[in-house]
Amino acid sequence: MRWGEKRYNSLNYFLREKFGEKVYKVSLDGGFTCPNRDGTLSKRGCIFCSDSGSGEFAGSRNKSITEQIEEQLELISKKFPLGNVIAYFQNFTNTYGDLEYLKKIYEEALSHPRVVGLAIATRPDCIDDEILDLLEELNNKTFLWIELGLQTSNEKTALDINRGWKLKIFDEMMEKLNNRNIKAVAHIIFGLPNEDHKTMLASVKYIIKKKVWGVKFHLLHIIKNTNLEKLYIETKFHILTKEEYIDLIGTAIEILDTDMVIHRLTGDGSRETLIEPRWSLDKRNVLNSIEKHLKENNISQGDKYEKIT
Ligand code: SF4
Repeated sequence: MRWGEKRYNSLNYFLREKFGEKVYKVSLDGGFTCPNRDGTLSKRGCIFCSDSGSGEFAGSRNKSITEQIEEQLELISKKFPLGNVIAYFQNFTNTYGDLEYLKKIYEEALSHPRVVGLAIATRPDCIDDEILDLLEELNNKTFLWIELGLQTSNEKTALDINRGWKLKIFDEMMEKLNNRNIKAVAHIIFGLPNEDHKTMLASVKYIIKKKVWGVKFHLLHIIKNTNLEKLYIETKFHILTKEEYIDLIGTAIEILDTDMVIHRLTGDGSRETLIEPRWSLDKRNVLNSIEKHLKENNISQGDKYEKIT
């Protein structure tokens, strides 16, 4: 098969090819907040965002970047005693800060002997030209990608979930990042309230057209103490079944360009805080079911790419 044992171009496969060995990610908390939570744009945040700023498994913000890297390496030391890692700034908006501070923490991560690259999660409305210059500089000296939480290409849903920026902002940022050869990963959520399969797949087609480098698929998680939980209690909107989700993922994989790197096929939920869909807690089972679906239906990444371009 084209991508090892998989029918799609997984991040795992991509990193092995690039670095010649397995490379893990260590999730870090850079101590940021988000303009959608600190009152600059809103205090509500995106409707699904949890207290940790959508980074449930990152290090502790009370520790330095180096300490967090060491701590995370210790956690994976049994299965991964010596290998290299990508430092992943995950929680909140990781370019929402003073330029000198950004430089300091990114450089601190890169100075760790086992860090071979950087991944920075942010919003497309939080990267100004000075930050772009910094990202370009980093891109020239290390392996870098930027993650943008698109979630949906539908403007109405974006308003409903309080994303806080219009699609035009994403368009413009993708153009700037592509012009500087900075790799971008788009996050897409399947199962947002009032979205049907057609709307969800329109988001996938949109990122293909915008030439993102990678994609992270998420199943909408309703987490305790979020605005989404309140909406769910009030409206009981439709929760995707496992079968629906797997079918959507299969169709999405089929239409992606073969070069696009799939960073994730479903998210990690915490047993204590996840309200719905509870079926997603058995992540291994979900991933196995996706593999089975792809095999049974003879689906490989890119099979239908040409039909949509
Ligand atoms: S942009 Fe990210 S951190 Fe900010 S509110 Fe939305 S999900 Fe939370």
